[in-house]
Amino acid sequence: MKTEDNGKVNFSYHTKVVRNPKLERLQYNYLFPEISARELQHIRKYPNARVISLGIGDTTEPLPDVVASSMANYAHNLSTPAGYRGYGAEQGSKELRKAIAETFYKRMGIKDEEVFVSDGAQCDISRLQLLFGSNMSIAVQDPIFPVILALSHAYIDSSVIIGQTGDVDTISGRYQNIKYMKCGPQNGFFPNLSDTERTDIIFFCSPNNPTGHAATREQLEQLVQFAQDNGSIIVYDSAYAVYITDGRPRSIYEIPGAKKVAIEISSFSKIAGFTGVRLGWTVVPEELLYLNGFPVINDFNRIVCTCFNGASRIAQAGGLASLSSQGFKGVLSLVDHYKQNAEILLQTFESLGLKAYGGINAPYLWVHFPGSNSWDLFNEILEKTHIITVPGSGFGPAGKEFIRVTAFGHRENIIEASKRLTALLS
Ligand code: PLP
Repeated sequence: MKTEDNGKVNFSYHTKVVRNPKLERLQYNYLFPEISARELQHIRKYPNARVISLGIGDTTEPLPDVVASSMANYAHNLSTPAGYRGYGAEQGSKELRKAIAETFYKRMGIKDEEVFVSDGAQCDISRLQLLFGSNMSIAVQDPIFPVILALSHAYIDSSVIIGQTGDVDTISGRYQNIKYMKCGPQNGFFPNLSDTERTDIIFFCSPNNPTGHAATREQLEQLVQFAQDNGSIIVYDSAYAVYITDGRPRSIYEIPGAKKVAIEISSFSKIAGFTGVRLGWTVVPEELLYLNGFPVINDFNRIVCTCFNGASRIAQAGGLASLSSQGFKGVLSLVDHYKQNAEILLQTFESLGLKAYGGINAPYLWVHFPGSNSWDLFNEILEKTHIITVPGSGFGPAGKEFIRVTAFGHRENIIEASKRLTALLS
């Protein structure tokens, strides 16, 4: 902590408060700071270059007018005596919970009351850790997504903060109590469950960030069966579900029996361009019970009411508008834009003879450069094409020969990036 002393900054004063030892055990994720540092260096070296980012997975296209207008109107109404509103329900507005249940879970029979509106999936991942407490064992997919803005692994770091993860293995640099489930091309991006140890919680993300793989129905059936056999809870992250267009399940609840073993978290971020607006949701089915028969939903409700006072009413107005018939058309055309970008990039890599995974049901491509080192590749691509990518090793050792490319971007940038990559790699 720095203090001002006669205009000079000094660091000599410190409080007597001991730092939370759980935070002390967090590993520093160097991936995105390192990418930013290299980008900055590159811009200094080539001040006139037009750098294109296929790195951070952030949305780029404007909101549909109907969505932006609904938020503007809501905000304006707050300035009128009739339109003013204070706190809302912690779980979200009735209308929005109903609209989410109807839009995404109608066939699966998820009730409005089982939907909890949030300020984004990342925040709910942390609230779920609070719900589970420190005695739970957890499993995550490998590679795994680091949350870009927080520069951390959302599933892992929130577990470390709550105290679930044990010590760091000095050789692998990984937390001993976390089970990493290898998911690569060799196993169809799905863990070999026959040699996966039982854990209380299984974090599973589909479509996956970073690999872009959307789990098949058969894979999800196996996962649900595995959770049932072991009495585990799946935390299913479906933040990219609307990108699935080939009939694969968009929700874990499409699998019979999943309501007894799964919580689903999702988000308006990548569906509706709400990365900055902030809105998401979590589904906790009433049928999901602890060992003693107590409903998990009751505890989650308690956590939400204790640690969260509800999503912004303005954001919720935007969310509701984006699920209206006109709004949803606009939302789907945003998704379509990014999906077309992904197709352009996929064709580019395929025409160059490279194997690129993902990009069909997801806005990410996971491109394989056999025998390479992903940081060297990152450097070469940046140096020769002025394009930022993400080195796969940043997502775990399984990513060493891969780069991740995002399809979030303006079309002209994607086309230009495709031309530059073709010139470099052909
Ligand atoms: N889950 C996955 C798989 C993500 O890739 C991201 C963001 O990139 C999030 C969750 C975070 O979503 P939100 O913006 O709703 O916090």
